[in-house]
Amino acid sequence: MKFQKPRKPTNVLKFPKRSGKSRQIPKQACSYCKKKAPALSFYSDQGNKVIGVCRECKPQAERLGLLRL
Ligand SMILES: [Zn+2]
Repeated sequence: MKFQKPRKPTNVLKFPKRSGKSRQIPKQACSYCKKKAPALSFYSDQGNKVIGVCRECKPQAERLGLLRL
């Protein structure tokens, strides 16, 4: 009888990203408070710069009249 090659090693190599769940989405720092937030709201600052703000700083950006992207 011939020995069959195990297929498991190839399957493991197919999904290397699954090992680190938290690494998948890089956290971005808020442009205002510099805290790292899982989700930022992006606003256009005077048409040139794009800034990302966290939920807490969102009212600040809206008060400045920045355009939500
Ligand atoms: Zn913030």
